[in-house]
Amino acid sequence: MNRYDLVIVGAGPAGSSAALTASSRGLKTLIVEKQREVGRNILCAEGVSCNFLNLVKPKKGVATIIYRAGLTFENGESIFIEKEDGIGAVLERKIFDRHIFERAVEQGAEPLVGTPMVDIQKDGKYYKIKLEGKNGKMSVYAENIIGADGPASRVALLSGIENPPKIVHYCSQVYLYHPEIDGKTILFYFGNNLAPGGYAWVFPKDDGYANVGVGTTDPGDASWNYLAKFLDKYYKGAKILGFLRGTVPSGGLDLEFQKDRVFLTGDAARFADPLSGGGIANAFISGNIASLAIVEDKPEEYREKINNILEKDYRLSLLARQIIYSMDDSELNILAQELKRVFHGKNLTEIKSFNLVKMIFSTSPALWGLIIKKGGVNIAKTIQKIVS
Ligand SMILES: Cc1cc2nc3c(=O)[nH]c(=O)nc-3n(C[C@H](O)[C@H](O)[C@H](O)COP(=O)(O)OP(=O)(O)OC[C@H]3O[C@@H](n4cnc5c(N)ncnc54)[C@H](O)[C@@H]3O)c2cc1C
Repeated sequence: MNRYDLVIVGAGPAGSSAALTASSRGLKTLIVEKQREVGRNILCAEGVSCNFLNLVKPKKGVATIIYRAGLTFENGESIFIEKEDGIGAVLERKIFDRHIFERAVEQGAEPLVGTPMVDIQKDGKYYKIKLEGKNGKMSVYAENIIGADGPASRVALLSGIENPPKIVHYCSQVYLYHPEIDGKTILFYFGNNLAPGGYAWVFPKDDGYANVGVGTTDPGDASWNYLAKFLDKYYKGAKILGFLRGTVPSGGLDLEFQKDRVFLTGDAARFADPLSGGGIANAFISGNIASLAIVEDKPEEYREKINNILEKDYRLSLLARQIIYSMDDSELNILAQELKRVFHGKNLTEIKSFNLVKMIFSTSPALWGLIIKKGGVNIAKTIQKIVS
């Protein structure tokens, strides 16, 4: 019988990170992926912080290092920040994801690709996991399951974990060529007409080439329509080389993400940052933490460990999100002016919501006024407590 200590469903950043940790610590680990090969059909703008690169130390899969970041508001105000040794990076995820997967396999994880997981049943001490591969149906047994199967997690559904995301970013993106794209500069655009409840991004892969997209809380075709307007305004004549649409679920720290020995990670657990929608780093980190909880045989500590590592950033991003995305245009203009004042001549260490928000809120009385106006005194006090 095919028995494992751990079966991981999904070989994105969360699943492969979990497999790497589990197999390098001696767990008999199977990682199943429904796609025929890892790195296909990735929905992502591929931006990560330098901290993430330092944590993972990938040998492959980095498209470009970013040295300059720009924020542009609808009133035309632009703020640029530079850093000599790099602000962040844009990955080539089809290579990066495969690289982490291969590292896990080298450590002993057993790969099973082209094989969707279709059902989970509890069978005594084991979970019976049904798979549908190219050779037909099969079952494997495991004491532990890690659900790393992305936003539409079947692991969550089949194991009875109810975790409808608290926040959903609806995203549309194109991969384009335009001669004005600078391969070392990342750009963000904010505005209620441009991307309500979110932002537009330009994440370069090289000079001339970039992932350009819009994320918004407006569902349906809205993100696509906002993107068309954005492209018309800023990148007229761009050559579209590819496009995608997807969602980023967030709000997971306030939801269930574990039941018995089923652990949800990454997007399956809705761990993406509530403000930026970035989920690669938290996927990678949560995969690692879930496997450690299994290796140490302390499943009950999974939530506590996740909270220790992710909660501070999460809470601050959530509050910042509530405030920033409820601002009208005149308030956004004040924000733009204050950002210019706060960031002028400053070095950023990384593109991480917590540090950005901390820097903004800890230096601007005008913004405190706005926070109190938008969120009330209690929210202002909570933010002050988190950033102090
Ligand atoms: C348009 C867009 C732009 C984004 N940009 C960024 C960004 O710039 N930076 C950032 O940090 N984050 C970004 N994100 C979010 C980021 O892509 C995700 O947070 C991240 O991929 C989550 O990793 P994961 O491993 O949890 O899930 P995924 O990467 O979704 O991997 C899940 C894997 O599980 C597999 N799977 C699913 N179901 C099954 C099944 N039943 N059986 C077997 N396998 C299965 C899938 O095929 C997939 O390989 C973006 C998201 C979108 C939609």
